[in-house]
Order: sequence, then structure tokens, then C-alpha cells
Amino acid sequence: MAVKITEDCVYCGACEPTCPNDAISPGDDYYVVDPDRCTECFGFYTEQQCTGVCPTDAIVPDPEHEDSKEDLLARYRALHPDRPPEEVDAWNPPD
Ligand code: SF4
Ligand code: SF4
Repeated sequence: MAVKITEDCVYCGACEPTCPNDAISPGDDYYVVDPDRCTECFGFYTEQQCTGVCPTDAIVPDPEHEDSKEDLLARYRALHPDRPPEEVDAWNPPD
């Protein structure tokens, strides 16, 4: 599933440059994730990059945006039509 950012965000900005899909941006009060761009890092990495850098653990799975591996692959292909996906077999969904 896509991730979301909670009110625990302290607006440090550390997560934004970690996203390979440009899914994270500054919101009014917190940083926000565009669920239409979040692939859970599928296609690039085996783990979600943004969650590891957040100092307040404000980035959590978003149960309102559950995606199958096929959904994530389709999203990845739409975002990066000319780039072969990597690490697909080793990919781990978030808990
Ligand atoms: S999980 Fe990956 S793709 Fe989703 S917002 Fe975080 S860094 Fe971006
Ligand atoms: S890393 Fe965490 S605290 Fe910093 S902007 Fe992102 S969500 Fe907010």
C-alpha cells in the first residue's frame, strides 16, 4: 500500500529527496504523499526509502491505498515508461 504522512511530521524535508517517484512534497502543515505516484519504492528498491529517514516515524502505511504487486508495477511503468524495473523479485511490501 502507499504510505502517508501523519501529524507527527516536523517539516524537516528529509523524506522528499529520497523518493524516486517525486511523490513527496511540502503541504500546508505537513509533507504529503501523492498516492498516485507512490509505488512503495517498487521498481527501484527493496524497501521504502522515505520511512527510514523520518526522525519522527511520521510516514506510515496508508490502508486506504492498498495496491497489489501488479498495481504497483503498472504505476511504475506509467511513471517510468523507458526504465526497466529493478529489484522486483526482492521487493518487500511495508508492514
Ligand atoms: S514509499 Fe517510496 S515511492 Fe512511496 S513516497 Fe516513500 S520514497 Fe516515495
Ligand atoms: S522526514 Fe518525516 S518529519 Fe521530515 S518532512 Fe518527511 S515526514 Fe515530515
